[in-house]
Amino acid sequence: PPVIRLANIEKVYQTKTIETIALSEVNLSIARGEFVSVMGPSGCGKSTLLSLMGLLDEPSSGTIEIDGRPVTSYSDKELAGLRNHKIGFVFQSYHLINDLSVRDNVELPLLYRPGVSGAERRKRALAALDQVGLNARTNHFPAQLSGGQRQRVAIARALAGRPEIILADEPTGNLDSVMGEEIMDLLLGLNRDQGTTLVMVTHDEQQALKTQRLIRFFDGRQVA
Ligand code: ADP
Ligand code: ADP
Repeated sequence: PPVIRLANIEKVYQTKTIETIALSEVNLSIARGEFVSVMGPSGCGKSTLLSLMGLLDEPSSGTIEIDGRPVTSYSDKELAGLRNHKIGFVFQSYHLINDLSVRDNVELPLLYRPGVSGAERRKRALAALDQVGLNARTNHFPAQLSGGQRQRVAIARALAGRPEIILADEPTGNLDSVMGEEIMDLLLGLNRDQGTTLVMVTHDEQQALKTQRLIRFFDGRQVA
């Protein structure tokens, strides 16, 4: 079965005064090992789509399946496991903690993982930092790094959890084209060499063309 399947998804945000239909009639499947890009204008529902895929939020109607099973059939404990172990997030704005060293930032998500010792945590963090080419920067702080390096730290943080799926929301959106290309190459390598499933929101056509499939959204709907 597909690793993620969305069937007839609608997402409505309701505030006191406004109702926004963020997604409507969304049907899509992500196969294991796929690298899919998502494009569309600002406000068309891309971030909402990723937060639903990452089980950070629930649809207003429709079904989300992970590995062929509706999310509603998983126990709370299983869902926590999916969120923490199976899925990794990378954001446009990195979401690093400035008071923590690079290594501590990468170790952070593993703190809450049962059965991972301090030594194992450190080992995995250093391996992930090595993988993104930042082994010389483990004791630096985020403010001492370039944007591209900060995004590498954020990717290492996702990798330390050894996720099967990485959901990336405009991972190169704050980077110049050279650093953006480096990050894109890193993501392509993860997909090719480790079989990591990737869903990436991007505004960059050139990047999207390097992925296996491009889904276009407009006004909360898939248009292509
Ligand atoms: P994109 O990522 O494509 O820019 P979003 O998924 O962030 O789009 O937003 C889709 C629509 O839903 C927008 O109209 C946005 O204003 C609205 N929206 C997003 N999050 C919320 C929220 N938490 N509450 C109310 N409206 C929201
Ligand atoms: P944008 O691309 O619009 O700047 P973000 O990348 O900040 O949006 O966030 C993308 C989505 O992930 C949003 O739905 C947001 O609610 C959610 N999100 C942002 N930060 C976190 C976080 N630290 N933990 C969990 N979810 C987050």
